[in-house]
Amino acid sequence: MPGFPKADLNDIASVKALINERTVAVMLEPVQGEGGVIPADPAFLQALRTLTRERGLLLIVDEVQSGIGRTGTLFAHEQAGIEPDIMTLGKGIGGGVPLAALLAREDVCCFVPGDQGGTYNGNPLMTAVGVAVLRTLLADGFLAGVRARGEYLSSRLLELSARHSLGGERGSGLLRALILDSDRGPALVKAALEQAPVGLLLNAPRPNLLRFMPALNVSEGEIDQMIGMLDALLGQ
Ligand SMILES: *Cc1c(COP(=O)(O)O)cnc(C)c1O
Repeated sequence: MPGFPKADLNDIASVKALINERTVAVMLEPVQGEGGVIPADPAFLQALRTLTRERGLLLIVDEVQSGIGRTGTLFAHEQAGIEPDIMTLGKGIGGGVPLAALLAREDVCCFVPGDQGGTYNGNPLMTAVGVAVLRTLLADGFLAGVRARGEYLSSRLLELSARHSLGGERGSGLLRALILDSDRGPALVKAALEQAPVGLLLNAPRPNLLRFMPALNVSEGEIDQMIGMLDALLGQ
């Protein structure tokens, strides 16, 4: 992102060192996605909130990947008990259809309805999908189910890691990564897709890990099926 020098995740001193008189905001993902599924520590997020308040800076969280139930709460930053000034949403909010949102606290919001124009903006069909997604997520027990299956996926990935002497797993809710023993992620992604009789769609945002972002309504049986297929591939 132009204009944003990079600090180190989970290192508040590295953030402080970059703040100068021209700084207006700090932006981060509560769980880094493409970076390799690296969660920000709750204590780091809390320290960032305190620091940005003290210095009069905006705290912006990018929840495009981590938000909308993905980590087991509606938004990932909730787990640190903080409130950002601005938040971006996308991906899951549309449940597969193109929809994104930018939310700002009233006192820092400089937009009025209609400010952002575009052929597809405010599309009633897509926004109806977004409403349906939120109703589903907020229905009794849905997010608890995401947390339970996140823990289940975590435990199954840990078993797999132990059996194949890999580097463990990490993540939050149903946003997880299996750490490999080498840079064989891209080769595994290709082999998984070509597996017969049905392929497995994996993704390696970094060459030394596989990322898992199943549908939030994935079943334990489907997780078992995926682990079985991965087990066979890892053993090859
Ligand atoms: C995919 C992604 C984006 C880009 O979202 P768009 O809606 O395509 O602009 C931004 N941030 C994160 C964390 C993402 O994963």
